[in-house]
Amino acid sequence: MNSNVANRKHMNAYETVLHYFERAADALELEESTRRLLKMPKREITVEVPVEMDDGRLETLVGYRVQHNNARGPMKGGLRYHPDVDLDEVRALASLMTWKTAVVNIPYGGAKGGICVAPRELSRKENERITRKFIDQIHDIIGPDRDIPAPDMGTNSETMAWIRNQWEKYHGFNPACITGKPVEDYGAKGREEATGRGVGILSFKMLKRLGRLPKDTRVVIQGFGNVGSHAAKFMYESEFKIVGISDVSGAYYREDGLDIPAALHHVIENRSLQGFDNAEKITNDELLELDCDLLVPAALGGVVTMENVEKIRAKYIVEGANGPVDADADERLFERGVAVLPDILANAGGVTVSYFEWVQNRQYYSWDLNRVRQQLDSILSSAFEDVWQLANEKNVSLRTAAFMIAIQRVKRSTELGGF
Ligand code: NAD
Repeated sequence: MNSNVANRKHMNAYETVLHYFERAADALELEESTRRLLKMPKREITVEVPVEMDDGRLETLVGYRVQHNNARGPMKGGLRYHPDVDLDEVRALASLMTWKTAVVNIPYGGAKGGICVAPRELSRKENERITRKFIDQIHDIIGPDRDIPAPDMGTNSETMAWIRNQWEKYHGFNPACITGKPVEDYGAKGREEATGRGVGILSFKMLKRLGRLPKDTRVVIQGFGNVGSHAAKFMYESEFKIVGISDVSGAYYREDGLDIPAALHHVIENRSLQGFDNAEKITNDELLELDCDLLVPAALGGVVTMENVEKIRAKYIVEGANGPVDADADERLFERGVAVLPDILANAGGVTVSYFEWVQNRQYYSWDLNRVRQQLDSILSSAFEDVWQLANEKNVSLRTAAFMIAIQRVKRSTELGGF
């Protein structure tokens, strides 16, 4: 093992993104001044969100919006409601959005936001009041040509509808101010499935390049929420053999392949996989270490670390979640020859269809589902080909190649615009 890896202290989410950036910047031989310009967030905002709870108590929450870069267009990125949200995490996710929108070549920059709160403990009315109060604080720095939020963990299309309504109270009708809206209310068909479908499309492409057939590929998916369940559906329909799935309730394994339609049905009925039978129940740690070909972490960040990397038996990893593999583990996987398709490409299906939603809103014209799916496939396929080719040409990991392409594009737009 590389001794730098063994001696390095554990990195947090932002340090991890910076590490990936620096590695690609080294390969591009970028000057220090350019690195500093491209790395640093353009603007970071922390706001107080005072809100009256249902029992009359006054609660004061903290909200964030980090706008990382707008060289290529208005900034774009989700809003996360979770108790672990802090400035460091939001900063990391905002910069990932800059590289994500650049690698799939859609005309956006990167941003991210969130509120440190546990949404499961809120009533619907409390959630709505918090959301509206947060928008009161940040409405003047977001908008269709500035920074367009979208859902992330703990927020959904209903949250987006409240945000649009609150933003329009200040600025007038303009549904393009936010994406991930309900389909019947200026949302895009296919937005909900887009990230998971993209994970499936890209897994298919990567395995094809490696000469593997889906039916001979044993897949394990961690997380069965928006990303994990749609990835599972697409992959099951494409004849992959899905042997393990999981959610907060635990993990479920079946050597000769799980019945994914039954699992999807179970989650609709029960809101989680709890009680899903016809499978062996194992722990989430055991799931990650299962004997399989392809591992799709689609739940949380930081799940593959130096503590478990040697036990990971998958030959390929497709990062459905943001930051599921930490930087040290990533180097170790590269040394071991495990191909990792990085988050900035693997889960870019969501922001790509968010872009389609914004385009439709601006044109007052709605696309059908087939058109959304075809355009998604086309954008992800060409991004995949670019990354695959560069990785082979320069003999670098897929992650470094994806960052190299993204950094080059942002750098070029910055130069064209002038300083
Ligand atoms: P979600 O809340 O819909 O689903 C999360 C899933 O993970 C749930 O099934 C939950 O039970 C499970 N989970 C939570 N803790 C777990 C644990 N300890 N072990 C196993 N499973 C656990 O969230 P999502 O929208 O599917 O997002 C998942 C990841 O994908 C996040 O990292 C998110 O940032 C990223 N992502 C999502 C989108 C999108 O469009 N939804 C786009 C890009 C990236």
